[in-house]
Amino acid sequence: MDRVIVIRYGEIFLKGKNRGFFEKLLITNIEKKIKKFDCALKRNRGRYEISSYNLSVETEIIDELKTVFGIKSISIAQKIKSDVDVMTDIILKDIPKNVTFRINTHRADKTFPLTSPQVSAVIGEKILDSDGSLTVDLHNPDIEIQIDIREDGYTYIFKDKIECAGGMPVGSAGKGLLLLSGGIDSPVSGYMMAKRGLSLDAIHFYSYPYTSIQSKEKVVELAKIAAKYCGAMNLVIVPFTKIQEAIHEKCCSDYMITIVRRFMMRIAERVAIFRDCGCLVNGESLGQVASQTLQSINVTNSVIERLPVFRPVIGMDKQEIIDISRKIGTYDISVLPYEDCCTVFMPDSPVTKPSIHRAEAEETKIENMNSLIEEVLDNLEIIKIEI
Ligand code: ATP
Ligand code: MG
Repeated sequence: MDRVIVIRYGEIFLKGKNRGFFEKLLITNIEKKIKKFDCALKRNRGRYEISSYNLSVETEIIDELKTVFGIKSISIAQKIKSDVDVMTDIILKDIPKNVTFRINTHRADKTFPLTSPQVSAVIGEKILDSDGSLTVDLHNPDIEIQIDIREDGYTYIFKDKIECAGGMPVGSAGKGLLLLSGGIDSPVSGYMMAKRGLSLDAIHFYSYPYTSIQSKEKVVELAKIAAKYCGAMNLVIVPFTKIQEAIHEKCCSDYMITIVRRFMMRIAERVAIFRDCGCLVNGESLGQVASQTLQSINVTNSVIERLPVFRPVIGMDKQEIIDISRKIGTYDISVLPYEDCCTVFMPDSPVTKPSIHRAEAEETKIENMNSLIEEVLDNLEIIKIEI
């Protein structure tokens, strides 16, 4: 008998001919997470199995697995030969006295001589015969015992399923560029897109000395936490000071945020294309602030020429976004009080219904706009975020 961790995956099942590709990616992503432990990982038709590990690291392994998208659930199981008497012995060893129980059987091995209901019934009988203090309760048992008969002649016996992150393996949907501010919303957006299989690079606009070194360090910390789920990423730091100064000097104050965001989008798209990213991702949520009204989003989005922009939190309330940020561990860092470049030179009353025409007119006041962008692109700092 071996104690093993059984891993089940979800949606990959639906992927027909491409299933091999998804499975390979998932196993690579799992391997990256568990290589620091001394353990064995193998595939067992529709399941993965981790074995030969020291019991003292079992919880740590499980915590790592919970961050891997594509895993639906895991269980700690006893692995034994597919034999009804052996199964019964194992269950009897573990089950407490004076409880009600139910047995659920799943049979992948269709050559096993008993059907799933027969296995549950036969083993249930044997257990009742061996221990008079136990009772079967099919509807509301104290303990549910799961029997999973695999095709390789072995069976997993376990009690609980630990629900995991679900989604698709990171990398299966290509790569995107996440506009990562120091706030709550953008790390959550990265998490949500990674859940659908996107690997990420991140870009942060940084206006030193108006924004402090700590505000950059904060973004690095957020990227490190995001990387637990999204995988290793490059964080591109954009020196944004000169552009913000030019906008502040030349443009009408109520349009400043709109213009700042249009510059961000232009630069982000250029960086994304250069770095082979197929989309941009940001943390905009409809109506949350002046720059996220429908009109504002339209005016900033209109500078984008080639790539789709994904906004996974667009329809979410702030509290829903906060709940996810707490779950993934970014919240405490996001709320640290360092300023973001969007708050630098913040006007008292930003426009909530900007027009593209007016935004373009404001931008013509910055004669050297293109050379400012080129200069920024020549001076990017790239920080490697490892997992
Ligand atoms: P967040 O909590 O993500 O900072 P927010 O509510 O503060 O969002 P905004 O500041 O308007 O909203 O930003 C909207 C989105 O624009 C952010 O979610 C992020 O994707 C992007 N963004 C804002 N500031 C920056 C920045 N300095 N660097 C990179 N992206 C940014
Ligand atoms: Mg912000």
